[in-house]
Amino acid sequence: MMMFNSNSNPKSAIRNSQSAIECFTLIELLVVVAIIAVLVAMLLPALNAAREKARQTACSSNLRQIGIAMTMYQNEYNDFFAPTHLNNGTSPSPAWGSTGWHQLFVNLHFTQWTIFMCPAGWNYNTSSWRHSASDPSQTYYQKFINYGYNMFYVGGFPDEPAGYPFSRTPARSNDIAQPSDTIMMTDTWNVGNNSPFYIVVNYFSTYSGYGVAWPYHSTGLNILWTDGHTSGVTMKDPIAEYPVALPQYLWDRK
Ligand SMILES: [Zn+2]
Repeated sequence: MMMFNSNSNPKSAIRNSQSAIECFTLIELLVVVAIIAVLVAMLLPALNAAREKARQTACSSNLRQIGIAMTMYQNEYNDFFAPTHLNNGTSPSPAWGSTGWHQLFVNLHFTQWTIFMCPAGWNYNTSSWRHSASDPSQTYYQKFINYGYNMFYVGGFPDEPAGYPFSRTPARSNDIAQPSDTIMMTDTWNVGNNSPFYIVVNYFSTYSGYGVAWPYHSTGLNILWTDGHTSGVTMKDPIAEYPVALPQYLWDRK
């Protein structure tokens, strides 16, 4: 009995098999590329969402640490919240030459300067405000940090010009009627200066020289409340949604 018939030339079979494999591989390659393209398209939004969630969590953690630093300050300074900045004696409102609340916390060894940068805010509109990409601490010294302090109602306004209806001195815990509903710090952007800022104020247009609460995150912004808890507030359009998302009662001491 023969092992191979006349059509079973091994060399010919190998050749046929190779050409079949090449042909199949080409089609398969196109199919696989198409499948990968679909999978990537499906996966990218999930990856972006995961990255954004991680940034929100890191931001919230930063704010909680700021809240702990504030509690440490109050324990040492007779329950006063930290001043927005230390008045250096010149006028008017010499915030640039004075020591900001965040610098005070670092000087007192309550925390590191790095926690003042929101991961989403640091990547937000990078055009002009980063003084030195190689040394981000320079940005911190210039007060371009991502978290603004509620100056008018919690930190006080030591250089307040005559006629402004706000407190010059920082509040104490007992001055805040609803601590869990009163903003202490939040993600902040200074629209006039096109930069982050260490002070946040309650109205969008009236005090545009300061920062306003700003939605660095895709869903909105994070807030540290005066009782020390943090939460997110949904806001995509600061101009349209500001009065509704952050009404006056969330800012003042009442
Ligand atoms: Zn943030």
